Amino acid sequence: MTDKLDRLEEIARERWGEKWAIEQKHWADGTTTEHAYHVVSPADIDDIDQDVREYEYLWVNEEGEYVVERVQLTTKKAIDREVVADPYDHVDEDQIKWLWVKDENDRWHRVTDVEEHEEGDKRTLVCGDVLEDDEIDEMATYDPSDQDYQSVELCPVCAASRP
Ligand SMILES: [Zn+2]
Repeated sequence: MTDKLDRLEEIARERWGEKWAIEQKHWADGTTTEHAYHVVSPADIDDIDQDVREYEYLWVNEEGEYVVERVQLTTKKAIDREVVADPYDHVDEDQIKWLWVKDENDRWHRVTDVEEHEEGDKRTLVCGDVLEDDEIDEMATYDPSDQDYQSVELCPVCAASRP
């Protein structure tokens, strides 16, 4: 299975540079399925009154042969969200550790510190960058997957630091 992941990574990098992610599902029967994807762009489709994003999906078989598919999807948004089990007391919604913001390249980062200024807040990110309010084009969220589940691109450094 590692071979398949390596192969996905290799083709993804050739085709899309550094803008891609791999999704792998581990099924209850012990098998896995996996694909890589890349967000092409938001798409404007007549007759569809929803946000649409265009993706490329990359699949490989056991022989390492691949297929790339282009797909247009409406974005999925969470309509409700609630913690239903937290036996280890991990969730404190007031804590900044849950805060994520999107930068001008549509990539989400985790925030470690917010400094309030009159001109706008200054956010220090886990990866070391600093974002000021006028560089942020979307609201902060406690979970980036709320926003736009399929197209979420996380900064790898910030993603690795998730609690
Ligand atoms: Zn980051």
